[in-house]
Amino acid sequence: MKIGVLTSGGDAPGMNAAIRAVVRAGNLYGHEIYGIKDGYSGMINDDVVLLNHQSVSGMLSKGGTFLGTARSSEFLLEEVRIKAVENMKNRGIEALIAIGGDGTYRGAMDLTKMGLKTIGLPGTIDNDIPGTDFTIGFHTAVETIVDAIDKLRDTSTSHQRCSIVEVMGRHCGDLALFSGICGGAEFIVTPEHPMNKEQIISQLKKHRAEGRRHAIIVITENILNVHEFAEEITEKSGFASRATVLGYIQRGGSPCPEDRILGSRMGTYAVELLNDDIYGVCVGIRDSRMVHLPFSNVVGQKRPKNEIYSLVKKVS
Ligand code: ATP
Repeated sequence: MKIGVLTSGGDAPGMNAAIRAVVRAGNLYGHEIYGIKDGYSGMINDDVVLLNHQSVSGMLSKGGTFLGTARSSEFLLEEVRIKAVENMKNRGIEALIAIGGDGTYRGAMDLTKMGLKTIGLPGTIDNDIPGTDFTIGFHTAVETIVDAIDKLRDTSTSHQRCSIVEVMGRHCGDLALFSGICGGAEFIVTPEHPMNKEQIISQLKKHRAEGRRHAIIVITENILNVHEFAEEITEKSGFASRATVLGYIQRGGSPCPEDRILGSRMGTYAVELLNDDIYGVCVGIRDSRMVHLPFSNVVGQKRPKNEIYSLVKKVS
């Protein structure tokens, strides 16, 4: 079989490990693997390269995605998707492994209906995809954030400050939750675990009165303006406060072992599903095992609240 592989949406560490596994496992099973450049744009522009063992050599440790990624608004148009599928069919590519987030899955679901045998792999640092315990890239991003929190804590303690750290995640608070627990944050604020400003400020006042030298607040993006909140804390709590928005630093870097393994397992599993003529599904990891679910069970669904929220009260 000729199988295409692409990465789409935001890049995530471990995407290269997944592509590498698709190529290596695919070749082992006798398939030809084609890399499609820059997400769905590469399908539209017919920007495709044959990949072999050598093309993915040395890729495990590299962050980002060597195939490139993009957000293609053109691809939302049906006539453009028809052209994209025709380009693949003209090359004899009958299956596609698409690595990305919810938007990528929506595109992949359409492609399946249009006759391309498509499988989705969850590649996003946000961990916001239902049907999988973890997405490719999440663990590395948590490591990056924890490293930043540890550093901010040093300076916060020295200056007796409160540090607010804004992290990515959009509608999913897992990055803030996991990194907040690992970094010993005093407060973790996420869409699933909101806290009002007054609550935080009054607790900070208490902490200050007890003589605590620092406080860390980890907060998911888009909840409030962290710089304004820092000013308010400074005024009202007696803790001088500074806000740090980590931004795109969270997306980069060499993937940690968990993401290399997850990408390798998911890439291999996707090829094996195609071997069994299973498609129209996305891959996940559940209780350490590979699983697959129809796109329709996952797209547009919300992840249930993570069970480790129960830890927050007990350990922060
Ligand atoms: P991330 O979570 O990192 O943002 P994502 O896959 O959700 O990743 P999006 O930009 O939402 O990122 O989607 C990636 C691409 O998928 C879009 O640029 C578009 O080409 C395609 N896509 C998104 N939504 C749809 C849709 N409803 N139908 C067809 N294609 C879609």
